[in-house]
Amino acid sequence: MSNQKVLSGLGVGLNSVVGQVFKVAPHAGLPPRAKSNDADSEMPALRAAIGSVATDLAALGERAGGTSAEIFEALTYLLEDEELLELAEANIAEGWNAGSSYAMAVDEFGELLGSDPTFAERVADLQDLSKRVQAKLSGIELSLNLPSEGSLILVGEDFSPADTAQFTPAVKGVITSKGGPTSHTSIICRSRNIPAVVSCAAADELENGESVLVDPVGDRVIIGGTVSDATAAISFVAINEEPIIAVRSNIGTLADAETAASTLADGVGLFRTELLYLSERSAPSIEQQTEQYAKILAAAPAGPIVVRTIDAGSDKPVPFLNMGEEENPALGVRGYRLIVEHRSFIESQLVSLEAARQSTGRDVWVMAPMIATVQEAADFCALAKGIGKFKVGIMVETPSIAAMIGDLKGIVDFVSVGTNDLSQYLFAADRMNPALGTLLTPWQPALIRTLARIADAGKSAGISVGVCGESASDPTFAIVLAGLGVSSVSASASQVDVVAKALSSLDLAKAKEVANLALSATSAEAAKAVVLAALAG
Ligand code: PEP
Ligand code: MG
Repeated sequence: MSNQKVLSGLGVGLNSVVGQVFKVAPHAGLPPRAKSNDADSEMPALRAAIGSVATDLAALGERAGGTSAEIFEALTYLLEDEELLELAEANIAEGWNAGSSYAMAVDEFGELLGSDPTFAERVADLQDLSKRVQAKLSGIELSLNLPSEGSLILVGEDFSPADTAQFTPAVKGVITSKGGPTSHTSIICRSRNIPAVVSCAAADELENGESVLVDPVGDRVIIGGTVSDATAAISFVAINEEPIIAVRSNIGTLADAETAASTLADGVGLFRTELLYLSERSAPSIEQQTEQYAKILAAAPAGPIVVRTIDAGSDKPVPFLNMGEEENPALGVRGYRLIVEHRSFIESQLVSLEAARQSTGRDVWVMAPMIATVQEAADFCALAKGIGKFKVGIMVETPSIAAMIGDLKGIVDFVSVGTNDLSQYLFAADRMNPALGTLLTPWQPALIRTLARIADAGKSAGISVGVCGESASDPTFAIVLAGLGVSSVSASASQVDVVAKALSSLDLAKAKEVANLALSATSAEAAKAVVLAALAG
């Protein structure tokens, strides 16, 4: 290992690969914003450019197929969104040219979508579309022109869906300096089995043509590394027909519910309802909500469906809730705290869900996000039980409620741990800040020990404990969760099958043994290493 240099990041996938660095330069700069000299021609020019980008997206989608094709279809809807066009038209009326008007409209729209990671990626998609429309209007070429032969390790800041659709068979690995575990690059690489290391801050140091090992299991890139340096990859082989605990899917839209239904998911462990309302300027009526929920419930995979009431806040504003600015939005009025100002909307969600439950006959559970006290849990449960025949529970995302699980006996039917927020609050580390990724990995011992306490307290109190944060989408970590005593996990749809396979590859006794090893570690690296070694051996 003497001449080798190690760059750390966040690994995506279970296999490693060696190849030659191929750096993707940022695209040529777009022209600065400018006023128009011919106002009448701008709207037709904008419509033509949008039409042409839509055609490109359709062609890219057809070429890429699978998950990418679905992403492109969704992007075309975003691209042609009526509200977005109205904003652009208003900018043209103020004298701006077509490209500037669309760019400004996307910026305004992006602000509405807020900064939650789930939505931040939609904002990134929109910005990419904006770039494409502007490039079209000014004749700039955005294609990557990748070679079709060789063993390339693509290196760049991050890759948009349109970029990933241009990956040729020569792309054997990917390294990005930005983009987290839920970015498009990660999702696409995971679904196509391309090993990747994202959030690799030192990726810029890599030189074109040099040989590198992409070692996702080790969360690192080794310059000059060989396959023998790779952290052991585990290939899970199912030995049981069923996973040792239930594996459910996370969803946010009808399309997600349909995708989840084609996986091994046993129902839905987290339906993020706020995703339906991100651009709504007025509150949807009970009839509208009932119709939407009924469609989603009907499409969802067989099994229980855990629906979360709206989780909006200053960091993911829902326009019709008219929420003000806050100094520290993550610590502000978000999630269940909206009950003070917006009780009627939360009630309308529960009323609509009950109607949708009755019309579809599905087993609907409801839960509230961002609960901090036993009293809040009791209030929500009383409210929900008074409205519908649901199982009722809460999310465990704050350290304060994590300390009180035993006292929820007789109040909640279940709890679901949101490890994304629980990590953020446990470590006082903003989940939006890519510089803090090492504090936010689920392998941190303080998180693992907190999860163990939650699972133990849930067991003693007779409350079932699920986990629906991103940590449950990591098949190896899902084994640790099962061993800690968690009774279900809920993963993103793309990860459900791999998580189910991992949880079918061993018995509960082995999972407990592995969880105990993780519990004895005092660093994230050690916890991950000891678990991987035990599962590989
Ligand atoms: C979580 O916090 O882990 C969670 C699942 O909720 P969200 O990511 O939507 O905040
Ligand atoms: Mg959360």
